[in-house]
Amino acid sequence: MGGFIYLDHGSSTPTDPRVVDAMIPYFNKFYSNPSSVYKFAKESNEAKENAREKVAKLLSANPEEIVFTGGGTEADNFAIKGVAFANSKRGNHIITSKIEHHAVLNTCKWLESQGFKVTYVGVDKYGVVDLNELKDAITDRTILITIMHANNEVGTIEPIQEIAEIAKQKDIYLHTDAIQTVGKMSVDVNELGVNLLSLSGHKFYGPKGVGALFIKKGVKIDSLLHGGYHERNKRAGTENIPGIVGLGRTCEIAMEEAEEEENRIKTLRDRLEKGITEKIDDIIINGHPERRLKGTLNLCVKYIEGESMLLQLDYNGIAASSGSACTSDSLEPSHVLTAMGIPPEVAHGSLRFTLGRENTSGDIDRVLEVLPSIVKRLREMSPLRKD
Ligand SMILES: *Cc1c(COP(=O)(O)O)cnc(C)c1O
Repeated sequence: MGGFIYLDHGSSTPTDPRVVDAMIPYFNKFYSNPSSVYKFAKESNEAKENAREKVAKLLSANPEEIVFTGGGTEADNFAIKGVAFANSKRGNHIITSKIEHHAVLNTCKWLESQGFKVTYVGVDKYGVVDLNELKDAITDRTILITIMHANNEVGTIEPIQEIAEIAKQKDIYLHTDAIQTVGKMSVDVNELGVNLLSLSGHKFYGPKGVGALFIKKGVKIDSLLHGGYHERNKRAGTENIPGIVGLGRTCEIAMEEAEEEENRIKTLRDRLEKGITEKIDDIIINGHPERRLKGTLNLCVKYIEGESMLLQLDYNGIAASSGSACTSDSLEPSHVLTAMGIPPEVAHGSLRFTLGRENTSGDIDRVLEVLPSIVKRLREMSPLRKD
């Protein structure tokens, strides 16, 4: 794989070797079930609580407000279904946005089949949630607002603090899917004013299949999984101790290094954006110009398909995406770009580069070297081409 360039950190990231090192003893040395009574179990239990403190610290939360989950999708499902069912006597209405990850959108859709009502609020051309539409959607039956902190396709950062003000006035719970922001920018649950917040290890150099849900003290929420009395009776199932230890270490490293790293990544992203804009005509840069994740560059290249560019990039050893990993199997244009008002034929030409820690200036040079000729060749063959 010499020369392989990974520019798809929005889909997943390599696990930091320091995280792997921290996890290994919990596979082969301290392998006891943390719920067991003998002394040997103490190691697993302490490691788990230690990790909980680290996760809490990164979010400025209390350790008792952190519940470990089997990843980000589970945290989103837990937050939304848990609050919906626990508060169904108060109301049955949920507000979300049209640009959420499918972990949120499809959970809301399923809740509609269970008798809940859901409003999907629109966004502006930058992907920012329309706050007036959100306010207007509130009824006295609204129990939950769930809006993502930053969008995974275009990187736009949503005005969560303002939404929190609105939610608070009406006594409505606010959940945010912060899976794209935790470990990449400052995420402080008090500053944001949220009641629930999801995060996932593998999006910021931690292991896959482990995440957490922040549940502010006092929030009424039902369990998603039923079984033993793990995680203060909030999430049944023997805890994934190696994963949890890994997540704790991931948070610790993010706390120390993320800010500096992200600024370095932003410099690379800006150079990639500038280079592509200069070298290729008829492109659109998607997402908010400033309020955007530092490593994300999403663009539409007119007259060609994103998929064909991806194949050509792959042939040249460059891994990118056309938006979200979860939709790349479908022929539908991105629901995020569509909600932003981009016509379907343009949205089909979307390309997402998400930069990360291992990327170098040389990686950007390589993309700027190969992408213009790929686009030129594909456009020459394209039936959509302008004359
Ligand atoms: C990746 C992602 C998820 C899903 O998290 P998993 O840990 O992969 O289940 C949910 N929401 C957003 C915004 C994501 O980027």
